[in-house]
Amino acid sequence: MLNKSFKLLIGLLIVFSFSSLLAADLTKEQINQVLQEAYTKYKGDVGGKNADYIKALDIVDPDIFGITMVDKNGNVYEIGNTKQLVSIQSISKVFTAALVMSEKGSKFVQEKIGVNATGAAFNSIIAIEQHGGSASNPFVNAGAIQSTSWVSAKDSQERWRKISANMSAYAGRNLKLNKDVYDSEVNDNKRNQAISKLLDAYGRMGSDPLEATTVYTKQCSMNVSSHDLAVMASTIANHGVNPVTKSRVIAAKYTPKIMAIMATAGLYDNAGDWLYDTGAPAKSGVGGGIIAIVPGEFGIAVVSPPLDTYGNSVRAQLAIKYIINKLHLNPYAQ
Ligand code: GLU
Repeated sequence: MLNKSFKLLIGLLIVFSFSSLLAADLTKEQINQVLQEAYTKYKGDVGGKNADYIKALDIVDPDIFGITMVDKNGNVYEIGNTKQLVSIQSISKVFTAALVMSEKGSKFVQEKIGVNATGAAFNSIIAIEQHGGSASNPFVNAGAIQSTSWVSAKDSQERWRKISANMSAYAGRNLKLNKDVYDSEVNDNKRNQAISKLLDAYGRMGSDPLEATTVYTKQCSMNVSSHDLAVMASTIANHGVNPVTKSRVIAAKYTPKIMAIMATAGLYDNAGDWLYDTGAPAKSGVGGGIIAIVPGEFGIAVVSPPLDTYGNSVRAQLAIKYIINKLHLNPYAQ
């Protein structure tokens, strides 16, 4: 009898000491301390350059630097310019692909758009040709314009309403359009128009290609802060329930699929290096934001406009890598 209780006690101790290493058991002080370190360490980093192929992005303050983490209980940890708004750009692709998945199922996304890496730039036209007319995944421009076209809607207005309401539900507040970015990009998106026409020729579009490109451009121009982005990421981390508003935004069965695409193609053609360094599914945007997910635990977001040559925010990558490694949050290391 004594022997049995002793074994039980040892068992409990082992379970307890193992679980105390898990992310959920980090203290608020530990998290805030590491965020502070990351902020101080990288605030002065002057690497990278704002995107300039969209004119309105070139004039955004390059010193903006906000870091936010949201845990599965909706607790927020943040430092820096965390309420400063920038355009969401490519990070919007995650949420519109998730909407298509909700409406049409995960097989549809896999078969119609694809879930493989292109090994090419985010706006590559040659990658479409090399892959037999397929976009390859919903996070390159081609696949994202396709996702937008496949959102069920009777017209462009309804498509836009659904896409903006969907992103707002992930953020837990009504997101607003950045009119300057939209106006600048809508006059500069000829390449995306060409991509949409090419995909249409391959029978891959769900609506008129130019209409879908305009709505896609609008979704990229939505204003978000690192705070918004971290809440959005934490909703995916928390199996589809926004941990702040407690509303279910997407079925739990789809969040592993979304994270798989983020792991494969989230940081453009540098996604492999990113995964190697962090293990975290992530998505970047040329507005300077990056979201990263610690499944079941945290959404992390950093906003800082200067980008590297792949189009990924330099400070955001440095800060998120630091946080993940310092707090031992690499999902493959659990
Ligand atoms: N709206 C941008 C484009 O279509 C998004 C690119 C990005 O963030 O990667 O070029």
